[in-house]
Amino acid sequence: MPKIFATQYCVKCGKSATTFGGHVIGCERMALGNLMRTKVLAGWCSEDCHNSAHSNSDGCYGEYNSETMGLISDVRPLLFGNTTKPPKF
Ligand SMILES: [Zn+2]
Repeated sequence: MPKIFATQYCVKCGKSATTFGGHVIGCERMALGNLMRTKVLAGWCSEDCHNSAHSNSDGCYGEYNSETMGLISDVRPLLFGNTTKPPKF
């Protein structure tokens, strides 16, 4: 199973993320200098923030911003072993 990237902070208000759902799109610079569009699991501080944000039909909540959202390089240990639902990509 590949690693799952996720935001460290709520993509809406910037508080620490406690739940995850949907994704934001980030650009990852690859070895040859190409930019690849990468899905980053969207973190939320609360279900209220999650429910008040709007995704497109693909479940995308917009652009990933490393400065405000932070990054968890592998969110699997956080996802499995608590009650958070698995991510929907
Ligand atoms: Zn929030």
